[in-house]
Amino acid sequence: MSRWKCGIEGCDARFEDVEGAIIHQTTEHTRHECKVCGTIVPDGYFAIRHAFDEHTRAEFVRAYDADSSAVRVREEIKSDVEEEADLNSVVQTLREQGAL
Ligand SMILES: [Zn+2]
Ligand SMILES: [Zn+2]
Repeated sequence: MSRWKCGIEGCDARFEDVEGAIIHQTTEHTRHECKVCGTIVPDGYFAIRHAFDEHTRAEFVRAYDADSSAVRVREEIKSDVEEEADLNSVVQTLREQGAL
């Protein structure tokens, strides 16, 4: 059973490793425009990381009309990914593919 699921807008692509999931999210899905600052970021993990590294929880909730459980779900995804992923290798792979 593949434990990582893409999860973007009902996409149920599954991956054995988290790096594969992030690469898929970045190369196969359209980019996301941050509703707080308008920056274009890859959807999925990178969009979550952008929202929580660059903005406060309050800004996120206001811009996305989100509630505290939406924040908690995203924080859990972010920490799960960061525990598991070799993000340097993900970024390097994406740069080599010209996706970043
Ligand atoms: Zn997907
Ligand atoms: Zn932003």
